[in-house]
Order: sequence, then C-alpha cells, then structure tokens
Amino acid sequence: IPVDPFDLVIFGGTGDLARRKILPGLYRRFLAGQMPEDARIIGAARSELDDDAYRAFVRDAVDEFVRPDRKDVGQIDAFLSRLHYVTIDAKGTGGWQELAGLMRDGVIRSFYFSVAPGLFGDLAERLHDHDIADADSRIVVEKPFGRDLSSAKALNATLAEHFNESQIYRIDHYLGKETVQNLMAVRFGNVLFEPLWNSQYVDHIQITVAETVGVGGRGSYYDRSGAMRDMVQNHLMQLLCLIAMEPPSRFNPDAVRDEKLKVIRALEPVEPYQIVRGQYQADADGPSYREDVENPRSLTESFIAMKLHVSNWRWAGTPFYLRTGKRLRARASEIAVVFKDAPHSIFGDEAGHHRNILTIRLQPDEGMTLGVTIKEPGPGGMRLIDVPLDMTFAEALGPESEEIPDAYERLIMDVIRGNQTLFMRGDEVEAAWSWTDPIIEGWEARGDAPKPYEPGTAGPEESQMLMHREGRRWREIR
Ligand code: NAD
Repeated sequence: IPVDPFDLVIFGGTGDLARRKILPGLYRRFLAGQMPEDARIIGAARSELDDDAYRAFVRDAVDEFVRPDRKDVGQIDAFLSRLHYVTIDAKGTGGWQELAGLMRDGVIRSFYFSVAPGLFGDLAERLHDHDIADADSRIVVEKPFGRDLSSAKALNATLAEHFNESQIYRIDHYLGKETVQNLMAVRFGNVLFEPLWNSQYVDHIQITVAETVGVGGRGSYYDRSGAMRDMVQNHLMQLLCLIAMEPPSRFNPDAVRDEKLKVIRALEPVEPYQIVRGQYQADADGPSYREDVENPRSLTESFIAMKLHVSNWRWAGTPFYLRTGKRLRARASEIAVVFKDAPHSIFGDEAGHHRNILTIRLQPDEGMTLGVTIKEPGPGGMRLIDVPLDMTFAEALGPESEEIPDAYERLIMDVIRGNQTLFMRGDEVEAAWSWTDPIIEGWEARGDAPKPYEPGTAGPEESQMLMHREGRRWREIR
C-alpha cells in the first residue's frame, strides 16, 4: 500500500549512512510499490553537486548495496527521476532559499538529519526560519542521542524549541527488525507465552549482540564512547524493554513507549562486580583496540557483559544478562529466554533433561526457535531430546519472505505514515542515560581498566565467570 505523497529531505545525503542504508532502502520501497507517484527525495549536503551528479551517486549506492537479484534496471531511472539535490550549509545561509523553493505544499515534508548531532540545532532553526518545516513535518534523528544525561537533555531541548515530541523520530534500527516486532506479536498475540513470562517460570534472559568487526574508521568517535554508550544505552536497552515490558493496552506509540519507560525506570543500579569490560588485543587479522583508536592508554571498552535486575513484581529474582562486543567469534545477535527446569522429572536422570529456551535471532537469519523436549524416536526406551520448533521466517513464509524489508526502509515508511511506535521517545532516552551515567562515572572515577581478550573468541574469560558463578552459562556465539 503506497504511503501518502511526501518530500523527504536527507541532510547528509552524501554521507555513509545515506549511501549504505537510507537511499538503497528507499529504492527497495520504490520497487515494492510503496512510494506514491509524486514522492520526492532531496539530498542536501555540503558537497557541490547538481541533480545529475547526485543521481549518479545514488545509482552507484544502489548498485553496491541492493542485492543484484532484486535490482530492476528498468526501474532505477524512474527512481532516480524522483531525486533532487541541494548544496546546503547547516551552519550558514547557502542553499536554504533554494531548498525552500523546492518544497511543495500539500505533501508530507520530512527531514532526515543524517549528520553529526552537533548540527541538529542549526538544521532545526533554519528549517523554521525559512518556513520549510510545517506543523505536520517530521524529523528523523540518528544516534548518538547524547553521550550522557545532560547532553541528551540539551539535545532534546534544542529540538523541542522547534518541533513537538510527536514530530521527532529518534531512530534505533534494532526496533525496525522484523523479529523484534515479531517478539511483540508472539508475546501478546498468543495465549501460550505470557502466563509463563515472569520470574516464576523464567530462569534468566540473555541478550547478545556480537560483532566480528573492530572499530574500523570510527576510532576517534568510538574511543570517546565505548560499548556501553554505543550499544547498551540504546540498542540492548531497547531489546530489554521489549522483552520485559508489561502488555500495553494497545499497540499504539505512547502505550508501548510508556511500558518501555517503566522497565528502564525499574532497573536496579548495577554493582561493579556485575560488569565485565574488555578490550580486544591484536592478532594475525588485525591490530589491537588501542592501535585501532591510536590511543595506547585507552581505558574504553570494546566489549561489555553485565547482569541486570528489573525490580518489579514480574521480574524480581530473574536476572538479565547483556553482552556486546567487537572482534568476537561471529556476527550474531540474539535474545534467549531460558525457562526453568520442569519441577519434577518423571523419567529419571538417565533419560536426560533439557530446558525450554526461546531464542529470538536478530542476525543472521532473523527468526525464533523454541526448544521443546520430546522422546528420542526409536526403540531405545524413554530418552529425551531437545528439538527446535523453528519459526524462521524464510522457511515459514516461503519465497515471499525475501521481501522482508530492511529495518531502515520500514522505519522510514513509518515516519511518512506518522507512526512513532518503533521510535524512541525523549523521556526513554533520558531515562536510559540516567541509569547508564552512574555506572560509567563509577568506572571512570576508579580508573577501571578493561580486560584484554583474544579476537575471535566470546570476549574476556571473566565474562564467562559472570554466569558460571551462578551455575549458568552464556549461549555460544556462532
Ligand atoms: P558522514 O560523515 O559519512 O556524512 C556526513 C554528511 O553530513 C555528509 O553528507 C556531509 O556533506 C554532511 N555535512 C557535514 N557537515 C555539514 C554541514 N555543515 N552542512 C551540511 N551538511 C553537512 O556521516 P554518516 O556516517 O553518514 O553519519 C551521519 C549521522 O548518522 C551521524 O550522526 C552518525 O553518528 C549517525 N549514524 C551513522 C551510522 C552509519 O552506519 N554510518 C550508523 C548510526 C548512526
């Protein structure tokens, strides 16, 4: 179903994010027939380009980042004809009149701020000074949304000078993943799970976001941030919220975000012994973290594992373990809900026993699996095995599932539709920083050094201990 007609301005339209995600995503939505006839995309950035040069840039981006079997050569020209470009200076006057002249009345005017957060205020101000934004306009902003509570508050306040909260779309692409939304469908669309979704039946929950890459070219940014700020405060926290929240009364933006906010506010402070921070060392495939960021004394973590408690009736006594890091064994993200043992085994120890684990996989191959205990087939008596009830979308939905949109494309279409459910509200972001700040301040004040770890592993040994000392273990990263 096509969305309403729109003009989408991408500030930073020549940047890395626009090239890799936003523009290829828009092309895929175009191919899917979701873009109405008169939708337009306007790239706006500092580079001196004209429409033709920008179209050539976008053609290259599509060539590089859209899967070849989905590329339809005949349609790329039709897509490119919707594109325009304005050379603009966020901090100056150049380009703003031209942009104002390009915008049409009677369509949804949306603005993607794909630039450094330091420019958000300048953009917001100029959009208003030049009457480019109207009361129905939407702005999309990217992480990092602050680096602590006070900078996040300042950023929120800057945006609030020119836009209402209902116009601000803080993107967290983890929320755009099909599986993440499916998690809500599974939890709240079935009678099977919710009665068991509490500390009486759930032993613990693990959330892992493992990357194989190092910090790459983002070294100087990353070294001022670290895994806690770059991943936990936003992506892992959002996943935790969706797992732990109470059922909202409706699937609407504020009902969902109110419940997520309550989870963040219910987080207990974390003691230092419940956190393991790590830094990758050098190996044959690459330099060490400290070499990558060119800071031989860096105390920033490229890995973090931690144990959290959500203190409310539902979750008292069920720990949540979070971990994320770079240069780990595999690129794999998953949430695992590990249920408790059956209260009594009628089959005896020799039959073996397995716990039910619901695994929600975000990458690779998005999908869910529920481990169920059954009898091993055959005449060998009652021996129990664990088999997966697999809900992998590619299999369940057949060839159509190839059309599962990428997180960015789905979220951009939600912006045009005016649906904020999958975007972070300002108070959520601030609450997450309120919880993160004292933890970071603690290790900074103590001068805690991250533990070194071998690349290609599951992180520092100490992170295994976080689980082992309580008789639990991390799931394998593979
Ligand atoms: P980039 O450096 O590749 O591109 C920056 C863009 O901003 C360019 O188009 C540049 O022309 C434009 N720009 C810079 N200064 C400007 C000015 N004064 N006036 C007008 N335009 C100006 O950055 P990026 O990687 O595309 O990231 C953009 C934003 O998205 C950043 O805030 C980044 O933190 C965030 N982000 C990026 C990624 C990613 O994968 N690249 C992921 C998450 C968040």
